[in-house]
Amino acid sequence: MAQDVLQTPIDYLKGVGPNRATLLRSELGIQTFQDLIHLFPNRYIDRTQFYKINALQRNNAEVQIVGQITEIKEVGQKRGKRLVATFRDETGKIDLVWFRGQKWIRERLKLHIDYVVFGKINFFNGVFNIAHPDMELKTDFDKSLSTAIQPIYPSTEKLYNRGVSNRAVCKLMEHLFLHVGNAFTESLSEELIEENAIISKKDALLNIHFPKSQKLLARAQFRLKFEELFFIQLQLVYKNLIHKSKIKGFPFEKVGSYFNDFYQHHLPFNLTEAQKRVVKEIRTDMGSNAQMNRLLQGDVGSGKTIVAFLSMLIAIDNEFQATLMAPTEILATQHYNGLKPLCDAVGISILLLTGSSKIAARKEIHAGLEDGTLHILVGTHAVLEDKVQFKNLGLAIIDEQHRFGVAQRSKLWHKNTSPPHVLVMTATPIPRTLAMSVYGDLDISVIDELPPGRKPIKTVHRFDSNRLKVFRFLRDEIAKGRQIYIVYPLIKESQKLDFKDLMDGYESIAREFPVPDYQISIVHGQMKAADKEFEMQRFIKGETQIMVATTVIEVGVNVPNASVMVIESAERFGLSQLHQLRGRVGRGAEQSYCILMTSHKLGNDSKTRMETMVRSSDGFEIAEVDLKLRGPGDIMGTQQSGVLRLKIANIVQDKTLLSLARSWAKKILKEDPKLSLPKHLPINTTYIQMGKYKNIWNYIS
Ligand code: ADP
Ligand code: MG
Repeated sequence: MAQDVLQTPIDYLKGVGPNRATLLRSELGIQTFQDLIHLFPNRYIDRTQFYKINALQRNNAEVQIVGQITEIKEVGQKRGKRLVATFRDETGKIDLVWFRGQKWIRERLKLHIDYVVFGKINFFNGVFNIAHPDMELKTDFDKSLSTAIQPIYPSTEKLYNRGVSNRAVCKLMEHLFLHVGNAFTESLSEELIEENAIISKKDALLNIHFPKSQKLLARAQFRLKFEELFFIQLQLVYKNLIHKSKIKGFPFEKVGSYFNDFYQHHLPFNLTEAQKRVVKEIRTDMGSNAQMNRLLQGDVGSGKTIVAFLSMLIAIDNEFQATLMAPTEILATQHYNGLKPLCDAVGISILLLTGSSKIAARKEIHAGLEDGTLHILVGTHAVLEDKVQFKNLGLAIIDEQHRFGVAQRSKLWHKNTSPPHVLVMTATPIPRTLAMSVYGDLDISVIDELPPGRKPIKTVHRFDSNRLKVFRFLRDEIAKGRQIYIVYPLIKESQKLDFKDLMDGYESIAREFPVPDYQISIVHGQMKAADKEFEMQRFIKGETQIMVATTVIEVGVNVPNASVMVIESAERFGLSQLHQLRGRVGRGAEQSYCILMTSHKLGNDSKTRMETMVRSSDGFEIAEVDLKLRGPGDIMGTQQSGVLRLKIANIVQDKTLLSLARSWAKKILKEDPKLSLPKHLPINTTYIQMGKYKNIWNYIS
């Protein structure tokens, strides 16, 4: 029943004619009564506060004044024509100004009668004025349903220009509530409502639009935010459960001799507690019947590689093959070089496949994969080629996941009869809140501890004008036997310019650090793979002291003797990228440094980024700041995720609520996976509705 009323087209609401209906549809996507109810205010204004005109300040604040119009006149010519009303209270006067809709407004304004006027205060030609104020007769104001706390609704310029002011929207909301009255059905279970002291649906909707008090407003917001997050989490957790029950994986039942031999005799260091915990999580996952789909997050240098290797050993112990994919050739090669000795120690085979692998090598790889004698294949995207067929692929590990798309991941799935277990490793710390809402259907492991003995990297911010001092410092470090990275930005849109910057930079560095005392490597995206590799190798072997590069080196490169990272035009990098780059140093025993070079002119966001880098080395903290600066929409991979188009909750500000919502979603589905218990009926009904409508708020009432 209730649903029926709420599905009424907006045209039928009192106060909405065909014109307004069209506007509401096109500007705000409001089709039905229900849509209008879910147009939540952006903010609220305390309308118990009235200003006296002589107390106004030149601060552009929104103010509310009671007074009377004493005069109305048209001033200016043609395009500058405007309607100006003189508005007085007992302390002074201001102008009310309309640039549009003058005739309509003029006909309606009444002289010498009390109005409540609301709007943003401007100062022009020595007089305060409010342009296009919200106005209401004082008598109406006093008896209106709207209360002391005035909602401000999302709007558009077009709406405003066509007379659909905030006031007008408030009025529509009033008509709507008078009309639909009690049509809201509860969507949460009693248990949820009681245990979280949540107010009813009806009260929440009423108070979000007509708050009776700050306290009730807060409770209304709590409920509606919770509800929004809860149903999203319910969906994600449910998907995860379905995945676990439907998609069978290969159960890796045993931890066998390869793993044990390696673990007991060949581990190059003691694992950190975090590494141990994560290995256990992965082991448990792969040991179960369900296919593993796990995201492994760990800051740069936290030691994800060894975890990957141990996981692969478990696969091999169970007579499966494993593959490790990396986004760049350099990184894949480095993984291969790092893992090869470990494999040799326990006697398993490993090969490298990249775009530049020779035909003979490929043949060997293909044959080994197909007859099962090749245990581990490390590689780039080349691994995904159709020609690459495994005898028995059991585990696929993807390093630096954000560079691989979903489509590529699914290609991996088809490399075997059942999908292999998948472990996705990322060094871009995704704030947990965000990970929960975006990757809620993946399981997440976190290595939140760095191996012991690391010295924190000293990070400083220097302006270009200090360059000579910085060079002096670099010479001192080189004299101590250290190596240095100097990184230039590379942004797709302006590759040519960036390339020029890089080359100019290279030349000036070559001048400052002349041969034969200094040797410089240079690596950038336009070089052939073989040349890149050659230059990298010179640096890795210590034949060159300086590596000038674009962000090619961002990912993964491991040169423990490199202890200084200079980032040029650091203001052009995002926080997570800066953090990644910094992670290239601090891998050896020596004190490491990161120097952020910028110009003097910095915007606020750039300043915050530099300050954050200097202050913090915690990837998760940095990611949180990044999230605040950029909003979730800009964080990799989240654009496509409708999950983040939230109407009332805010991923950044409502973290605690998100966790609460998630834990309830888990709890409820654990108890009642099909939501079939009578007590979960309201939730189930809502959940089903939610499947029908894409927008989650379309069902909730
Ligand atoms: P990332 O998580 O960035 O991929 P790596 O796996 O490359 O990190 O590890 C960074 C460095 O730390 C490597 O040189 C690795 O050998 C070393 N390492 C990893 N785990 C430990 C540990 N538990 N104790 C000491 N060194 C470790
Ligand atoms: Mg790594």
